[in-house]
Amino acid sequence: MSGAARVLLVAAVVQQGASWGVLPRPACPWGRPALRPAMAAATRCCAAGASGAAPGAGGLGGGIPEHCWDAHNHLQLSRKDAEVRELVEAHQMTVSLMGTQPADWAHARALAQQLPRQIRPSYGLHPWWAHEHPPPAPGSGWMHALQTALEEDPRACLGEIGLDGQWVPPGLEAVQYEQQVAAFREQLQLAVLLRRPVSVHCVKAYGDMFDTLRTRAELPPAVYMHSWGGKLGMLQSYVKMKKFGDRFYFGFSAMANLRDTCRKTSAVIAAVPDDRLLLESDLEEPGHVVGALERMLQVIAEAKGWSVEEAAAITQQNAKVRRPVLTAPPAPYLSPALPPLLL
Ligand SMILES: [Zn+2]
Repeated sequence: MSGAARVLLVAAVVQQGASWGVLPRPACPWGRPALRPAMAAATRCCAAGASGAAPGAGGLGGGIPEHCWDAHNHLQLSRKDAEVRELVEAHQMTVSLMGTQPADWAHARALAQQLPRQIRPSYGLHPWWAHEHPPPAPGSGWMHALQTALEEDPRACLGEIGLDGQWVPPGLEAVQYEQQVAAFREQLQLAVLLRRPVSVHCVKAYGDMFDTLRTRAELPPAVYMHSWGGKLGMLQSYVKMKKFGDRFYFGFSAMANLRDTCRKTSAVIAAVPDDRLLLESDLEEPGHVVGALERMLQVIAEAKGWSVEEAAAITQQNAKVRRPVLTAPPAPYLSPALPPLLL
C-alpha cells in the first residue's frame, strides 16, 4: 500500500470515530490446559507494554480502535453468541471464525448468520483433530459436508487447516502426522477447486509446508499463514516464492507470538509486506479478544513504525482484500483424479 493510500485509509477510519472501550480480561484460550502457560507467558512479555503494566483493562491505556478485523479466531467454540455479538457491535469490528472439525461448522455458520457483515465463517479440519477424521471416499463424509458448506456460502473461507509436528492428541503417544498430511492435502485441493482462501496452521513443520506449497501446480487465491512463528528467512522465502509469492498473508496473535522476545517477533513483523499483514486473536473466549488485539496492535505498530490506528486500519484493509472471489462455478470434487501433492 502506498503512503498516500494509507493516509486516506487511516483518515477514513478516524472520521468514523474511535472507541476505546475495554472488555473484561481473558482467562484461557481453547480451554486446553496445554495452552494456558503460553497465554500466561504472553501476558508477561512485550504484550504488557514498555511499562510492564498488567495487560487487559487499562494495561495499554485502553482498548482498540473501531473497525479492527480479527482475522483468525474460534469464537464459535465458546457458545457465547450474545457476547460475540456484543463484542463486534461495541467495537464495530469484524471477526473471522475458524472451524476446527465438522462438529463446530454448523455453529460457526449459525453465529455468522446473526451478524453477516461482521461475523465471517470458515470451515475446515484442524490438524489437531485430523486423526479422528480420515479422508472419506470422494463425494462422501466430512469432505462432502465441507464442500457443501463452502458452496452454500460464497463468503466463507477454508480453515483452519495445516500441519503440526509437535501436537500429540490427548490419550495418544505420538504425533499423528500422516493423518494430518492426508487431511491437509485434501482440503488444499478443495480450496483450489472452489477458489477459496485458506487459513493455515503450521507448527514444527515448516519445511514440509513450504515444499508442499512451492511444488503445487496451483494454490488457493490467498494463503493465510496464521500466528506465523517461522523464522525471518522462511518468511522471505514465502514472499519470494515463484508464481505464488504474492498470495501469502501473515497473521500474528498475542497468544502465539508474544511469548518469546519481542525483538524476534518485531523483526519478523517488520519484514512482512505492508499489504500482507493481518491481525488476529486465535481465541475462543469473546471476553479475551480486545485485550489480545490491543497487545498485538501495539507490537505491530512499533515494529512497522505506525500508530496503533494505522496498524488497525491497514490490517483491516488487508483482511478485506483477502475475501473470497468466485470467478467461475466450482468444479466437482474429484479427489482421485487430482494430481497428488508432493509431501
Ligand atoms: Zn486457530
